[in-house]
Amino acid sequence: MGALPVFRWRLAPDGYATRRQLRARGLRPGGQPVAAQLERPRRRRPPLVAYLYRVDLAKPVRPMTPARWAALDRANAARRTCPRCGRDAGYVIPPTLGTCVPCAFPDRAAA
Ligand SMILES: [Zn+2]
Repeated sequence: MGALPVFRWRLAPDGYATRRQLRARGLRPGGQPVAAQLERPRRRRPPLVAYLYRVDLAKPVRPMTPARWAALDRANAARRTCPRCGRDAGYVIPPTLGTCVPCAFPDRAAA
């Protein structure tokens, strides 16, 4: 990344924005590569670096459509469903258990 233009902090030219600044304007980098970087010198430490994207190449944040909400719901439901008993556990199945808690500890649930 040595070929990137480097600007001093607060001296970024117009038309460039950090990811966070894009987000505040309802934009996202949209797959574009980092266009420049900002460096803020720090005493006795490596400079603080911020990556800049070109505003003209940024794309609007994709709005959540009903289809996207539905897909998200399905994904979350799948993560809540216990692969052993097939029930919706009401919480995301912990990867360390791999099943819902009653399946992982049947004797404890019976007690
Ligand atoms: Zn289960």
